Amino acid sequence: MWAGEPFLYHSLLSPALNLKLLNPRECVQAAVEAFQAGAAPLQSVEGFARQIIGWREFIRAIYWREGQAYQQRNALDQHGCLPPFYWSSETDMNCMHQALSEVLDNAYGHHIQRLMVTGNFALISGVDPKEISEWYLGMYVDAVDWVTRPNVLGMSMYADGGTFASKPYAASGRYISRMSNYCENCRYRVDHRTGPLACPFNTFYWDFLIRNRERLRANHRMAMILKNLDRMSVEEHRSIAKHAEQLRMAFGILRS
Ligand SMILES: Cc1cc2nc3c(=O)[nH]c(=O)nc-3n(C[C@H](O)[C@H](O)[C@H](O)COP(=O)(O)OP(=O)(O)OC[C@H]3O[C@@H](n4cnc5c(N)ncnc54)[C@H](O)[C@@H]3O)c2cc1C
Ligand code: SF4
Repeated sequence: MWAGEPFLYHSLLSPALNLKLLNPRECVQAAVEAFQAGAAPLQSVEGFARQIIGWREFIRAIYWREGQAYQQRNALDQHGCLPPFYWSSETDMNCMHQALSEVLDNAYGHHIQRLMVTGNFALISGVDPKEISEWYLGMYVDAVDWVTRPNVLGMSMYADGGTFASKPYAASGRYISRMSNYCENCRYRVDHRTGPLACPFNTFYWDFLIRNRERLRANHRMAMILKNLDRMSVEEHRSIAKHAEQLRMAFGILRS
C-alpha cells in the first residue's frame, strides 16, 4: 500500500468479470499464453490464475452454499454504527483517509486496503457486519451481492464464526505500518497503544481480543496472541477497554 498509488500492480478486471463482459476462462487463458510466449513470469501467472479460479470460485461456492441466511450472521455480536468518515474520508487516521478517499474518487480499492484497512477497522472497532456490508455494496464499482457479501461478512468481519476463514483478519497498526508508508504522515503514533496519540488500530485491536478472547480461545491459530493478551495486567486491559470506548464515542460508532 502506498499513498498516491491506488492501483499498484492490480489488474482492475473485477468490474468486467462481474458484469460478464469478460469470461474468467479467457482471462486465465490469456495469462497462460503470456507465460508461454515469455512475456510474464510463472509466479505472476500462477498468482493471477489462483485469484480467479481459486478465490473467486470459492467465494461463489460460499454464497450459493450458505444461502440468504448468511446475510444475517453476526457471530461476534457486533452492533456499532459505521462511522460517518466512511462517506467523507475526513479522519486523522492517514491509512483510512488514503483508502477511503481513493474509494470515493475511483470506486475502487485493492484487496489489502479492503481487507486490512477499511475492513479491519470495522471488524476491530465493533461495527455491525450488516452496516459495513451495505457500505461495500454501495461504494465499489465491482460490487455484486454474490461476491461482496462473502468477502465482507465471511472474510473481513468473521460474522459467520469461521465458515469462511480459519481466524479473524484482525490486525494492529503495526501490520499497516509494515505494509505501507501511511504511518509516516499520520497524526497518531503507531507505537502507542493508549493515550491521546495512540494509533486507534492498536487500541481497537487489543480491545477486540479482550472482548472476544473466550469466543476465540478454542481456535488454535489464536493461541499465541491470546497468550500475549493474558500476559498483560488487568489494569492494562481496563485502560485499553476504556480508551476504545472513548474512541467509539468520538468516531460515532457507539449506538445511542
Ligand atoms: C471486504 C472485501 C470486499 C470485497 N468486495 C468485492 C466485491 O464487491 N467485488 C469483487 O469482485 N471483489 C471483492 N473483493 C475481492 C477483491 O478485493 C477484489 O476482487 C479485487 O480487489 C478486485 O481488484 P482487481 O480486479 O484489480 O483484482 P486483482 O488483485 O488483480 O485480482 C485478479 C482477480 O481475481 C479475483 N479475485 C481475487 N480475490 C478475490 C476474492 N477475494 N473474491 C472474489 N474475487 C477475487 C477478482 O476477479 C480479480 O479481478 C472484496 C474483498 C474484500 C476483503
Ligand atoms: S498510525 Fe495508525 S492510524 Fe495512523 S496511518 Fe498508521 S496505522 Fe493508520
